[in-house]
Amino acid sequence: MWKFTPELEMLRDTVRKMANEVIAPRAAEIDLTGEFPWDIKELLQRHGILSVPFPEGGCEQKHTAVCLAVEEIARVCVSSSLILQVQALGATPILLAGTEAQKTKYCPPLASGEKLCAFGLTEPDAGSDAAAMATTAELRGDTYILNGLKHFISNATVADVFCIFAMTDRSKGTRGITAFIVEKDYPGFHIGRVEKKMGIRGSPTAEIVLNDCRVPRENLLGREGEGFKIAMKALDYSRPVIASQAVGVAQAGLDFAVKYSKERVQFGAPIAQLQGIQFMLADMAAQTEAARALTYHAAALADEDSSQLSYIAAAAKLMASDVAMRVTTDAIQVAGGYGYMVDFPAERYMRDAKITQIYEGTNQIQRLVIARQLLR
Ligand SMILES: Cc1cc2nc3c(=O)[nH]c(=O)nc-3n(C[C@H](O)[C@H](O)[C@H](O)COP(=O)(O)OP(=O)(O)OC[C@H]3O[C@@H](n4cnc5c(N)ncnc54)[C@H](O)[C@@H]3O)c2cc1C
Repeated sequence: MWKFTPELEMLRDTVRKMANEVIAPRAAEIDLTGEFPWDIKELLQRHGILSVPFPEGGCEQKHTAVCLAVEEIARVCVSSSLILQVQALGATPILLAGTEAQKTKYCPPLASGEKLCAFGLTEPDAGSDAAAMATTAELRGDTYILNGLKHFISNATVADVFCIFAMTDRSKGTRGITAFIVEKDYPGFHIGRVEKKMGIRGSPTAEIVLNDCRVPRENLLGREGEGFKIAMKALDYSRPVIASQAVGVAQAGLDFAVKYSKERVQFGAPIAQLQGIQFMLADMAAQTEAARALTYHAAALADEDSSQLSYIAAAAKLMASDVAMRVTTDAIQVAGGYGYMVDFPAERYMRDAKITQIYEGTNQIQRLVIARQLLR
């Protein structure tokens, strides 16, 4: 069992209790209806969990704190864990590059949970190659005019505040990308298509249409041309959180498989007595523990703002998400045909685990990040 500071242990225990008692009973329904769970958002808000990524949350090791909370929530409902994860990701550019005035305006309502935020980088033709973005921002007087389409944006339909990345000077490549704080009520800001998804169905994923969207000049984040750097740094901080999500759902798969194997009788005895099943459970447990260890290491590096963060965060996200996919697939295997049925949670775990290999940089991109660091 990992030992953390008393503050972190208390946070983890609080979230674990909340997850087991309130979120777990809602998880299947959230998946089935595909509706954003406002009740869970309010629960997290009431208990101050949405303040954890912010200085207002008062937690010294805030990155580890976010990771522990996300792991506990993801263990019972990955969709619900995105409420905190996306709040942390969406706010990171403001925390990294915001002026005092921007932080004073935006952080308190985000920390209290009164407002939600999101992160808008991806476009239809700019996924892994984020620098290929077509969205533009042009300064006219004291207003930036944004035009373009962001897609696959988590929590787009429920967020109030967005960190949006746009090209201010295409000739400069990645150095021509700029970050902006955009509010949902700004003229020219619209929500487009809402996606239907394999998993994390309670986390809305949608397009943002920017049609001559008017953003006040004071909402420029950092300086013009710093957007790509800000986005990459935000992802470095967020990848341990995705790894935590993966560890949480892997643990769920393991717990399910252990319990099921002790209850299911075939050939006159619980299948847990079969060595073939025991070996599967042992591999699932060993992989989950290894993923957890690397994830906590990455979270600690985020808290130290270590120069190793990029490398280890990518490694943690890569490893934990691959483990989550393997373990949740094996959880279904342990339960045989029953595991394939929606009456049991294992198939939801597998569908939810899959996204952790894709978003915030696919695992191919994590390998590129790792290799780039190795070969420097
Ligand atoms: C549910 C969901 C939520 C999301 N939430 C957000 C969000 O909140 N904000 C946001 O900005 N984005 C979000 N995304 C976008 C996500 O980060 C991208 O989908 C992801 O980065 C991959 O981009 P892509 O889908 O365009 O795939 P592509 O880039 O088209 O990749 C297709 C395939 O090619 C591979 N590939 C691409 N380039 C390379 C390479 N150089 N070497 C090897 N293989 C390569 C990829 O690994 C992948 O297997 C979300 C996506 C999903 C599905």
